[in-house]
Amino acid sequence: MLRLNEIKLALNHSEADLRAAICATLAIRDDALLSYSLFKRSYDARKKKNILLIYQIDALVSPELETQLLGQLDNLVGVRATPDTGYHFVAQAEPTFPTAQQARPIVIGFGPCGILAALLLAQMGLKPIVLERGQDVRQRTQDTWALWRKRELNPESNVQFGEGGAGTFSDGKLWSQVKDKRHLGRKVLSEFVKAGAPEEILFVSKPHIGTFKLVTMVERIRAEIIHLGGEIRFNQKVSELHRDAPVDGGTGQVTGVTLADGEFLPSRHVVLAIGHSARDSFEMLLAQGVYMEAKPFSIGFRIEHPQSVIDKARFGASAGHPILGSADYKLVHHCKSGRSVYSFCMCPGGTVVAAASEPGGVVTNGMSQYSRNERNANSAIVVGITPEQDYPEHVLAGVDLQRKLERLAFELGGGDYSAPAQLVGDFLNNKPSVNLSAVSASYQPGISLGDLSKALPAFAIEALREAIPAFNKQIDGFSMADALLTGVETRTSSPICIKRGADFQSINTLGLYPAGEGAGYAGGILSAGIDGIKVAEAIALDLLKPDTVS
Ligand code: FAD
Repeated sequence: MLRLNEIKLALNHSEADLRAAICATLAIRDDALLSYSLFKRSYDARKKKNILLIYQIDALVSPELETQLLGQLDNLVGVRATPDTGYHFVAQAEPTFPTAQQARPIVIGFGPCGILAALLLAQMGLKPIVLERGQDVRQRTQDTWALWRKRELNPESNVQFGEGGAGTFSDGKLWSQVKDKRHLGRKVLSEFVKAGAPEEILFVSKPHIGTFKLVTMVERIRAEIIHLGGEIRFNQKVSELHRDAPVDGGTGQVTGVTLADGEFLPSRHVVLAIGHSARDSFEMLLAQGVYMEAKPFSIGFRIEHPQSVIDKARFGASAGHPILGSADYKLVHHCKSGRSVYSFCMCPGGTVVAAASEPGGVVTNGMSQYSRNERNANSAIVVGITPEQDYPEHVLAGVDLQRKLERLAFELGGGDYSAPAQLVGDFLNNKPSVNLSAVSASYQPGISLGDLSKALPAFAIEALREAIPAFNKQIDGFSMADALLTGVETRTSSPICIKRGADFQSINTLGLYPAGEGAGYAGGILSAGIDGIKVAEAIALDLLKPDTVS
C-alpha cells in the first residue's frame, strides 16, 4: 500500500474527483488504482468561502507498480510506503498464569486509563483485578440523573465516579495532542470500534462519539476483560495502599490494597488510575508517603452560544454541511497581566452538565450526544493557575482551592445545586443578570442568575473580561451580550502529579504505577487510554520474566 499524505479537494467534490486526485498524485492511469481507503480526513476552514477537505489515503496498486513507485518517491510529493500502524503486544503470559493470587495485577479505577490498562493486561493473559469505587454504568447513569433531575448527589456514583470514569457522560471527543510514535491511540480507537463505536473514528481528524454510545461500549469492553479472565468489582473503593517500609527514606514495594469494607487484596503490581477528582484517595496516598507534587490547572466558567452563531462564524455559507457537522473552536488569549485564557472541552451542539462529586459543591462541564444537535454550543473558558503563584501552601492546596470555589458556587447558586450564571453582556459591564435573553440555559438541575464576579478570584475575572471580547475577533458573535456564563469550572485537570520514573513506577513506591489524568499523565479520554496501554506494557514486561514471555 502507498500512503498519500495530503490530497486537498473542495468541500463539495465527488468520489470521482478524489479518485482522479489519487491517480494524479501517483501519476498513474485510472485502471492501475485497484482500490483505496481513507486513513484520515480533516478540513481547512480558514477561508470560509473555500473550505477544503484534506485526505490521507492508502492506495492499492499491483505489487510491481508499487515497487516501481516506491523507487520514484523523490518525484512523488507526499507519497510513502504505508507505515505499520497496527498494535503489537510486548509480551504474552502462558495460559497457566497466575501461579499465585498475588501475581495478578490490580487496576484501581475503571475510567479510560484503567479500562485500557485492564484490557491490555487481560489480552496479554495477566488476568487483572479491577477495583472501581463507583457503580456499574447503568446504575451510575441513574445516580447521575438523580443530581440533574432531583438535586440528589451520590458522592460515590456520579459524573466523576463509576464505570467508564469521568468521560462517560461527555462529548466523547477522541483526539489528543500527545506524541504517539507507536500509534497507541489507534489501538485505543480500534478497541472502541470493536466495542461498537462508529468506524469513522478511525479516519476523521477530530472524532467524537457522544454519551449514549460510550455507555454501551464500556459495557462491552467490561465483558471482554471478564471473558479473558479478568475480574471487575464495582462499589469497591480502595481506602489503603500497603507497601514495605521504605529503606533509608528511599523506595518501598507495594504489597496490596485494602478496600473500604476492610478486605485485603495482595498484589505487587498496582495501577493507580483514579482520575482527577479522587480527593480522599490523594490524601490517603500522601499520608502513606507516596511522592506527589502540586501542578498547574485552570479555573473559569462555561460559556453557551447558539450553535448557529458558531457554525456561521466558522463555516459561513457552508454552515450545516453534513461533512463539517456542528462547528467547534479552540481559542487562546494572552492577557496583559501575563495570565493565559483558553477554551477547553468545547462541546458543539451539547449541554452544560453538573459535574460535582462532593456534597455542597457546584462544578460545570460539558457533554453531547453523537448527533451534536442540541441548540447550544458550550465550552469552558478558563484561566491558567500555578502552584507557585496561586496555591503555594502545600501539595494539596490546589484541591483546597477547587473545593473552596465549588462551595462558593453552590452558595451563589442558592444552595440547591443550581449553578450561578450571568449573561456575557452583564458580566462584561459588571452588572448582575436578572433575566435570560436569546440563549437558553442547558445546565440541569437549573441556574441562578446573578453576579459571577464573586465566583472566582479577582485576577481570573479580570482575565476573562479581557479575553472574551478578544475571542470575538476570532469567532464573530463570541462576546454577544446574550451568551450565557455558568460557573464554576474547576476540574480542568489534576491539581497534582504523582511522579513516576521511566519504568512507569512511582519514584518512591515500587510496583505502584500512577497513570492517567489523576496522576498528571493524561488530559482527555484518548491520552488516558494511551497511558493505560503504556502502564499495562510496563507491568507485563516486569511480571513476565523472559522465560515466560513468548
Ligand atoms: P477517570 O476517567 O476520572 O477515572 C477514574 C476512575 O477511578 C473513576 O471511575 C473513579 O470512580 C475511580 N476511582 C477513584 N478513586 C478510586 C479509589 N480509591 N478506588 C477505586 N476506584 C477509584 N475528555 C475527552 O477527551 N473528551 C471529552 O469529550 C471529554 N468530555 C468530558 C466531559 C465531562 C462531563 C467530564 C467530567 C470529563 C470529560 N473529559 C473529556 C475528560 C475525560 O473524561 C478524562 O480526561 C478522562 O476520563 C480521564 O481518564 P482517567 O481514566 O485517567 O480518569
